[in-house]
Amino acid sequence: MKLIRFIDKRGQPAPGIIRPDGSRIDVSGFGEDYHEQFFGNDGPRRLTEWLEQHEANCPVVDDGVRLAAPCARPSKIVCVGMNYAAHAAETGAQPPTEPVIFMKATSAITGPFDPIIIPRDSTKTDWEVELAVVIGKRASYVSEAAALDHVAGYVLHNDVSERAFQIERGGQWVKGKSADTFAPLGPWIATADEIDDPHNLRLWLKVNDEKVQDSTTADFIFNIPECISYISRFMTLLPGDVISTGTPSGVGLGMKPNRFLKPGDVVELGIDGLGSSRQEVKAYQ
Ligand code: ZN
Repeated sequence: MKLIRFIDKRGQPAPGIIRPDGSRIDVSGFGEDYHEQFFGNDGPRRLTEWLEQHEANCPVVDDGVRLAAPCARPSKIVCVGMNYAAHAAETGAQPPTEPVIFMKATSAITGPFDPIIIPRDSTKTDWEVELAVVIGKRASYVSEAAALDHVAGYVLHNDVSERAFQIERGGQWVKGKSADTFAPLGPWIATADEIDDPHNLRLWLKVNDEKVQDSTTADFIFNIPECISYISRFMTLLPGDVISTGTPSGVGLGMKPNRFLKPGDVVELGIDGLGSSRQEVKAYQ
């Protein structure tokens, strides 16, 4: 099942799905947004059952309707840093011996086709295509063998990053990862059954139609079970939480000379099975 959220006539996010034929329908009649309670109580299965009775009565979502991020705001976004060897190398870092993790503010979440706003005083706003995992079951001290049982689905994420805020301002990376619009998610969450092998997905990103990232999740240093198990030793992952699994090489920070986003740039990104997204870059106003 492909879960979407869209902006309804009241200007509020509402839940929908993409049907196998590509059409989009409004499932607000089901009565639940895609939040912690939905994912934690077998929501995709319950929604599937509900649709058997009600699909014919669900309104179609018109093509022009704006998409929101496909999950309601989660309790946290946990990101894995330096999870591709070539990306670690381009930033001048050694490949990590255990997962690097950091948090990203959930207020950064934005829709897949919404603009990226360059924050005030930013000169180094950068892109990062990533496979993100949506947690489906409370995860605390989970073994690697059991980790994938805790996954509800997968979603495309642009882990937009301000490199000066991240690296040159002291303290944690969170400062460079958390500005508004720095987490475009979607277009859809593919439930786990839709993705045969999350460790064999091509992912790519273009800036102004030039392909700058093109890799595969087969190149992870730490695979998804390792990441989930590892993170769950330090915090409890709640249903709906988003884990972003790291970006491959080809970010602006890795280019010689460095290249960063400026107003008017267009970023497009995609992952096999998870669709593609597009963000125009705008200045803070
Ligand atoms: Zn990242």
